[in-house]
Amino acid sequence: MNKHLVLVGGGHAHMVTLKNLHTFIAKGHKVTVIGPSPFHYYSGMGPGMLSSTYSPDDIRFATEHVVSSQGGNFILDKVVRIDPVEKSVHLESGATTNYDILSFNAGSYVPWDMVTGEHSDIFSVKPIETLLAAQKRILELTGQKEITVGIVGGGPSSLEIGGNLWRLAKDNGKFQPTIQIFAGSELMSKFPAKIRKMAYRSLRNRNIEVIEHDYARKIMTGQITLESGKSYPADIIFLAVGVKPSTIFKESGLPTGPDGGLLVNKFLQSVAHPEIFGGGDCIYFQDQPLDKVGVYAVRENPILYHNLMASLEGTALQPFDPGGSYLLIFNLGDGKGILGKNSLIFDGRLAFMIKDYIDRKFMREFQAMEK
Ligand SMILES: Cc1cc2nc3c(=O)[nH]c(=O)nc-3n(C[C@H](O)[C@H](O)[C@H](O)COP(=O)(O)OP(=O)(O)OC[C@H]3O[C@@H](n4cnc5c(N)ncnc54)[C@H](O)[C@@H]3O)c2cc1C
Repeated sequence: MNKHLVLVGGGHAHMVTLKNLHTFIAKGHKVTVIGPSPFHYYSGMGPGMLSSTYSPDDIRFATEHVVSSQGGNFILDKVVRIDPVEKSVHLESGATTNYDILSFNAGSYVPWDMVTGEHSDIFSVKPIETLLAAQKRILELTGQKEITVGIVGGGPSSLEIGGNLWRLAKDNGKFQPTIQIFAGSELMSKFPAKIRKMAYRSLRNRNIEVIEHDYARKIMTGQITLESGKSYPADIIFLAVGVKPSTIFKESGLPTGPDGGLLVNKFLQSVAHPEIFGGGDCIYFQDQPLDKVGVYAVRENPILYHNLMASLEGTALQPFDPGGSYLLIFNLGDGKGILGKNSLIFDGRLAFMIKDYIDRKFMREFQAMEK
């Protein structure tokens, strides 16, 4: 019997499924993909888009086109919750759609809890599309006057946003902004000392200030206030305080992990509803918590594709093996990077060249499906 497969979000973990959408249709199944944008942006190249190293076209997939050209149905909307008993998906527009098999790749978001009052000139580092709006505003302001940009958060995205913002203004702005990173405890505190030293050096060489041992408590347009009570003025504020999984699962009463992500077993399958699957930042992998990095979303791709097809066709599921340690390369915005994998750590131009090569290769592979 023909079945209905619904994909929520066209993120990094659904790439292989999207590329092979025609194989579901060829077997007589109906496929619907729901997403808030006709495009999906590759986050690994997001900070590079902020600096204009990459254009938006370099870093995005034409999800809607890829779906409809293979005979699938794309709905431009946001899923707000699902009803697992009725097997229905509820959208922001008020519409609903039914499914036989459902797969989530709805990603994560940056919480805005600290922000009070109106939100103008405050940008979160996700969704990646936001960086385009931030770029436009920064160019507008740095063309007129000296401004201060405050980046709240002490992880890799703060480092990358700070470095690439510097590059944006250097190449395009009339005035170089003052850039301050409010790193909470310490910058890159979860990384080895060698990586942290390299990060500090890179920022210091470009007069990017790092404020540590004081967490941001309150953020409003034009001002960042820290736990100590100190306040800092900022014309533009970036929120890079870490991410949380999509709220859909809590809203739907589905079992979640401690972070609110969809709780999945080794088959990337909801522990309560065998017809629901998921991958990427929005899941909590029961066997071992996974870092919120694109690497895992990418590794999950073939298993999700296999298991969605197997569930539709009634064949055996495959378990997901998260694999060992992974390579991380940070784009510092000055043509250099920091590369780290286990004890191999180095910085410089070669590190960025390797990242650029890997990222462009990934994009080429999946952008090829647009043709
Ligand atoms: C600035 C920055 C740089 C990063 N760089 C790297 C890096 O170099 N390497 C790395 O491994 N990781 C990196 N990460 C982490 C990486 O972004 C995430 O781990 C990765 O994006 C997870 O992929 P995903 O597909 O699960 O989520 P996302 O990339 O967030 O994709 C989710 C998709 O779901 C859609 N969606 C969202 N909500 C809904 C909804 N309600 N209904 C329907 N669709 C929805 C979105 O439009 C989007 O297309 C970076 C993160 C940031 C913020």
